[in-house]
Amino acid sequence: MKQLSYLSLGVVSIFFLAFFVSSDLKNFVSNQIAGVIGIEKEVCPSGRGSIFEDEIMVHVNKEKSLPKDYIPKELVNAFSQVKITKSVCVKKEVLLSLKEMFEDAEKENIILAVTSGFRSRETQSWIYKNWIRINEGKTEDRVAKPLHSEHQLGTTIDLTGKSISYISAADKFDGTKEDLWLKENAYKYGFVLSYPKGRTEITGYDYEPWHYRYVGKDNAKEIFEQNISVEEYFNSFLNTQKL
Ligand SMILES: [Zn+2]
Repeated sequence: MKQLSYLSLGVVSIFFLAFFVSSDLKNFVSNQIAGVIGIEKEVCPSGRGSIFEDEIMVHVNKEKSLPKDYIPKELVNAFSQVKITKSVCVKKEVLLSLKEMFEDAEKENIILAVTSGFRSRETQSWIYKNWIRINEGKTEDRVAKPLHSEHQLGTTIDLTGKSISYISAADKFDGTKEDLWLKENAYKYGFVLSYPKGRTEITGYDYEPWHYRYVGKDNAKEIFEQNISVEEYFNSFLNTQKL
């Protein structure tokens, strides 16, 4: 009887150990995706000249990739400029609008934070590989392959809010007061949701309420008014051969 209890205790312990190890790993990768761990003292890399005349409106998706080792120009650290949960680099123009948006939101008691900004090809590659390892089958619609991520543009950020204790890249951000405020107001500052609800077939990605891309105020206004995704906006230009 005593042996049986020890055996049960052992089995239960192994079960809990396995559970915590796997959930720790999952949290670790999630945090990397949001950029919470690592590169705390990151100095933003310098862009080495660009093939893009306009680095704001660069079309990248599952099919369209960025040039190898693309680093946008004028990446600046958001530290002390806006609330962040780690070191975040974005293009200077993006930071200025972001700061304006956060300050206006705060006047309405909406407290936002950035959990991720620019990601190099190497960082994205690390995230992608680890995400594959622990989320088989779900990767393709959630995490972009290296050179296919909007985060490499330096124009794209992941946002969170006080009401969910600044958890990053969280599905539960959907419907929070910060989420609702952003959906009404982000476009006024040049930001749009890249992967809206119900557009997976068009964007290639699951709905991500936290993932915003800066496209400039005029483009954002059009995208908001037409109620379309960034992908559809690019496609409309391609179809009319304006780009
Ligand atoms: Zn994102």
